[in-house]
Amino acid sequence: MINRDRLVETFMSLVKINSPVFKERKVAEYLLHLLAELGVEAMLDESGSQYGSDAGNIIGHFRGRRPDALRVLLSAHMDTLVSGVDIEPIIENGIIKPATKTILAADDKAGLAIILEVLRTIKEKDLEVGDVEIVISSGEEEGLLGAKHLDLSLLKADVAFVLDSDGPPGGVTTRAPSYDSIKAWIKGQAAHAGACPEKGINAIAAAARAISQMKLGRIDEETTANVGVIKGGVARNVVPEECYVEGEARSHDPKKLADLTASMIDALQRACAEAGATFHPEVIREFEAFHVLEDQLPVRIFQEACRRCGLKPRTLSSGGGSDTNIFNAHGIPAVNLPIGIRDAHTDKETLSIKDFELAARLVLEIVRVAGESRREGEG
Ligand SMILES: [Zn+2]
Repeated sequence: MINRDRLVETFMSLVKINSPVFKERKVAEYLLHLLAELGVEAMLDESGSQYGSDAGNIIGHFRGRRPDALRVLLSAHMDTLVSGVDIEPIIENGIIKPATKTILAADDKAGLAIILEVLRTIKEKDLEVGDVEIVISSGEEEGLLGAKHLDLSLLKADVAFVLDSDGPPGGVTTRAPSYDSIKAWIKGQAAHAGACPEKGINAIAAAARAISQMKLGRIDEETTANVGVIKGGVARNVVPEECYVEGEARSHDPKKLADLTASMIDALQRACAEAGATFHPEVIREFEAFHVLEDQLPVRIFQEACRRCGLKPRTLSSGGGSDTNIFNAHGIPAVNLPIGIRDAHTDKETLSIKDFELAARLVLEIVRVAGESRREGEG
């Protein structure tokens, strides 16, 4: 039922519209135009100004023929990495890729194209489905900012499917970790390194000592930590007064995450105290973990849709965050689906047309399966 050529065409046209994170306005307007053609009541919210985007999030409502059926939320993000501008997509042997060395931005324009194609198919074939809510977020690549600022009280969905994962269709991400970002500004004392080093307090040395005391990398199967940025010093012959350290910690287990983050801050605290330096830490819980169980609505609907598409369902666990974390945190059970993208966030990013089409078929089937069940409280 999915029109493959139309799906690919929509994707190509979306890729050609630049939408680096925070500059999504042009693609937002194009999407609003396409949604209006489909009869979707859609609006751009005002939240963009709060996080520096020239567009907010699109929230849309597609009225199905069965308003009493389960209401599905389909979501994807409209922004891309900043490196993703002026992309020229080409097709070679059934694979879409960029003509030059850039990302393809199938993350997440493939998700957008699937949502549009699924709605077009439903409308064209007059399929009997429930209402479908649509959230197209901006600012996703800079820490899920669009979804974080979304007015979730506008959403009434029973279940959400986020179309924003790498890999072939048939997978379902049911788990993702909580995430802390950690920043620390260390302040020592500058001094001439040759004339009077004893008057100085070396902020870089204090940071180095702290980092050497931290447990980093894979801590256990569900917990990781990293220090990814270190900056400091002004000249070879000056004892460095300042050093900035940036790291992160993730775990599926909130207790483990709290302990890990505390131990990293503690290492900084001790090393600075020993050196006589001071430090200012900033820890932000960027998003909360989720774990959707096998018997919960999103997974049950997904598995039945897979069966109808002849796909073998695979349960996946993610190490990263997505808008899925935000929907779950607000009580809408949500999972993330791979849609045929390979190597997102690299200049090897590609999209297999076969997988892309299959992912669109699967999403259409998900909406149809949900449309066969009534919402709770509806007679
Ligand atoms: Zn993405």
